Amino acid sequence: MIRNPIPWPNGAKCACAITFDIDADSLIHVSRPKDSHRRLYPISMGRYGPDVAVPRILETYKRLGIKQSFYVPAWCIDNYAPTIEAILADGHEVGHHGYIHEDPVVTHGEAQVEAFEKAMEVHRRICGSAPRGYRAPVYNITPQVVDLLIENGFSYESSLMGDDIPYLLKTDQGQLWEVPVHWGCDDWPPFAHYEEIGYMMPVRGPTDGLRAFWEEFEAQYAYGGFFMLIVHPFLTGRLARWRVVDQWLEETLKTKDVWFAPLEEIVAHVQQVTDSGAYTPRVDDLPYYTEPVAP
Ligand SMILES: [Zn+2]
Repeated sequence: MIRNPIPWPNGAKCACAITFDIDADSLIHVSRPKDSHRRLYPISMGRYGPDVAVPRILETYKRLGIKQSFYVPAWCIDNYAPTIEAILADGHEVGHHGYIHEDPVVTHGEAQVEAFEKAMEVHRRICGSAPRGYRAPVYNITPQVVDLLIENGFSYESSLMGDDIPYLLKTDQGQLWEVPVHWGCDDWPPFAHYEEIGYMMPVRGPTDGLRAFWEEFEAQYAYGGFFMLIVHPFLTGRLARWRVVDQWLEETLKTKDVWFAPLEEIVAHVQQVTDSGAYTPRVDDLPYYTEPVAP
């Protein structure tokens, strides 16, 4: 069912990652810039992520002995520095997720370069190094951002939906790995209820909402694929939901041949098997189009 499964380390059947985007309250400031500072409810909903959920998530990862990836807008890195330092102290990866969650389709050209570089400065200053991975706010990566990532030496990005497993993106500027996402592995559809940003979903019960994710895992596991969740501390890190994820993780690590790792390690592995000739990845040449297509 997967034409070119990747040979995973130590004979693991499936590479796995639970990736968190720590958007905190950046979303309300971007969507309601004029009066967001007076909107305490959405600010508190966002702050729950770094203040309450992330320590809980880190505790689970430490107990189970796994390292994972977190994507954080630089404004959040600056405003929640102790949380980010705790993530790094535990050996997890922190990736680029824009400056203040600006949508790259809207913030383009010079404005995108400015936001991108401002974020790089924050990563260097607070995380102590440049990020290796990127995930676009609202998945809206553009050809301009792909080239910015290549120019800045990123090894991968994780916002596109073109395959089940990691693949290569090539442009005139060079190449980088794509670690693909999709809505079936994202927690906005089952759990987000956020009128101010125009996203009102009927909130599902923890077991019910998370069940779809485990079915995604079962399929990837059956075919030697790659399973990744794209989730948010203020949604999936809430008490009842994280309890279900914690129990699933414990059971899965005990009973399955899985390899949980940060995306930078998964990508380094795919690069290594590709370099050695043991693996041939699928390649997408970008851009798909250079001008508007419909009349
Ligand atoms: Zn985000």
